[in-house]
Amino acid sequence: MNMAQSGGSTMLPYGKQWLDEDDKAAVMQVLNSDFITQGPAIERFEQKVAHYVGARYAVAFCNGTAALHGACFAAGIGPGDEVITTPITFLASSNCVLYAGGVPVFADIKKDTYNIDPTEVEKKITERTKALIPVDFTGQPVEMDRINEMAHRHGLVVIHDAAHSLGAEYKGKKVGTLADMTMFSFHPVKHITSGEGGMIVTDNEHYYQQLLLFRNHGMTKEPALLEKNDGPWYYEMTALGYNYRMTDLQAALGCSQMGKIDQFINRRREIVAFYNEAFQNMPGLITPFQHADGQSSWHLYVVRWEQERFTVDRKQLFEELRENHIGVQVHYIPVYTQPYYRAIATSEVICPEAENYYQTAISLPLFPLMSNDDIVKVVSVVKSLYRKYYFDR
Ligand SMILES: *Cc1c(COP(=O)(O)O)cnc(C)c1O
Repeated sequence: MNMAQSGGSTMLPYGKQWLDEDDKAAVMQVLNSDFITQGPAIERFEQKVAHYVGARYAVAFCNGTAALHGACFAAGIGPGDEVITTPITFLASSNCVLYAGGVPVFADIKKDTYNIDPTEVEKKITERTKALIPVDFTGQPVEMDRINEMAHRHGLVVIHDAAHSLGAEYKGKKVGTLADMTMFSFHPVKHITSGEGGMIVTDNEHYYQQLLLFRNHGMTKEPALLEKNDGPWYYEMTALGYNYRMTDLQAALGCSQMGKIDQFINRRREIVAFYNEAFQNMPGLITPFQHADGQSSWHLYVVRWEQERFTVDRKQLFEELRENHIGVQVHYIPVYTQPYYRAIATSEVICPEAENYYQTAISLPLFPLMSNDDIVKVVSVVKSLYRKYYFDR
């Protein structure tokens, strides 16, 4: 693969897929076969991901959000059950709880890592709490020892939202082995892509069976699970499931992409090292803090602009970055501030750290296909805005 070429599009996006001829050939092979869905590529992809992270079982879904919905079903989340998650995440991390009839509860983030704060989680646990959905924000693993210890003490299921952290490690263990169930997303901005796609990995056979059921209308042909058996055509629907299946086209692409995962992550780490080096000694510009227990796989590179150090606000900086063709983004708007969430909230939610974070954060472009010229350009635009607006009081 050629690291120097990224094509000459005008706006440098914050994230983007990297597809090569092998990926395209893998999809073509499925198109020329007998099965374009529910064929052999699904299981191959599931086994590849399970093997890579070191989990026993994997169930592929049509997207990561559907996979999270499946995990909530498998965990037995139902009406009235509370599930604690972070406000600094994509909507899917808490929408999945609502799909299952549960109540999302938001615990504030840590000032340094921007991940959910285990101390804040503990404060939010009630007798109705059923599960925790920690999110490895930007690719940096959450403090899973503290999360798991708490979950164990209170009898809670841990659903790890690892949409940002495929390939990351926590205390020497790969993400995917640290919780009851772990979700990965294969949206094109994530580490590998299958177009749309998601997966749950788990070591628990009961969860595995529930996930298979949920993905396919709640129907089964497993002889051991049937009440009766009318014949070879016979199936039973034992739960209300959905059609959340992945196609073979997606799975074949995912398989091919998995062959390059380490290369993708290494390139992300290279870019991050370059950014970190370039943004040293720039007071007021906060680069990502990394906890010693984790090894991030770097989905996002977030810089924060300390408001009181600049003569313009974050919005202005964001707009000027965009004017210079740097396709920056803001990850994320605190979920509970969304109109829908405010309308259904039973009491006022305030997470001060999350709100402070949101006021100052900007995600810079980070994806393996970025060329060295792209990286130099991002750095030079950031530095020129810094010089233009920073003031030393
Ligand atoms: C991408 C993502 C998901 C799942 O998204 P899909 O687009 O449905 O695959 C879930 N949680 C987080 C934090 C994400 O970034």
